[in-house]
Amino acid sequence: MTLKLQMLGTGGAFAKNYYNNNALFHDEDFTLLVDCGITGPTALHKAGLNFGNIDAVLVTHIHADHVGGLEEAAFVSTLQYNRKMPLYIAESLVGPIWEQTLKGGLYQEGHITCLEDIFDVRPLTPGVKTAISKGISVELIQTLHIPGKDSFSFYLNDRIFYSGDMVFHPELLRELVDKRNCEMILHECQLVEPGAVHTTLNELLSLPLDIQERIYLMHYNDNAADFFGKTGSMAFLEQQRIYELA
Ligand SMILES: [Zn+2]
Ligand SMILES: [Zn+2]
Repeated sequence: MTLKLQMLGTGGAFAKNYYNNNALFHDEDFTLLVDCGITGPTALHKAGLNFGNIDAVLVTHIHADHVGGLEEAAFVSTLQYNRKMPLYIAESLVGPIWEQTLKGGLYQEGHITCLEDIFDVRPLTPGVKTAISKGISVELIQTLHIPGKDSFSFYLNDRIFYSGDMVFHPELLRELVDKRNCEMILHECQLVEPGAVHTTLNELLSLPLDIQERIYLMHYNDNAADFFGKTGSMAFLEQQRIYELA
């Protein structure tokens, strides 16, 4: 089955030259949107699509560059396309995403009083592989980002690692490559030090070559062009471009 990747955006949290780091995975008849940040709806429009073309959304964690467009996704899906958008999210984030983020905009007395009233909520258990469509399966892997804030990466189709926002975790990458036949690593990358709650380019450059060769960089800063040719064997993912993942 053909699987395609189109990053709607590849920008870091505060990037302005790039849209938020949100991704589309298309199998033959299904489109999964991974994260829907503030710029998500505009980037989708730029790609010639709308929420009617999206079959489900998966959320990695609760930061505006990953969930800021969900209010629009919910309203447009129910009002314009007459259906609740399927929302795949870690079970531990179902409560917080409503109480801490979405309730303020979506709440409507007597009609929309919980997340399930406006989304078709599909809670995910970390470490458990879940089939999302015929050609797409995901297994959430909890990774560190902000202290006290649950954040998730995931393993797609038992061969592609997609990092959420995360601090450098070389042991995880080593294990995925050695023990789980990971072929491709789509990794967030902060180009300038310090990394703090993200992974820096220098950290990724410290990895052994056999891991670096599998890495594609995303969630990067506005000055990415200054680093072209300086990322070893790791390539920058380009936003809006469609990649065939075979
Ligand atoms: Zn982010
Ligand atoms: Zn984040």
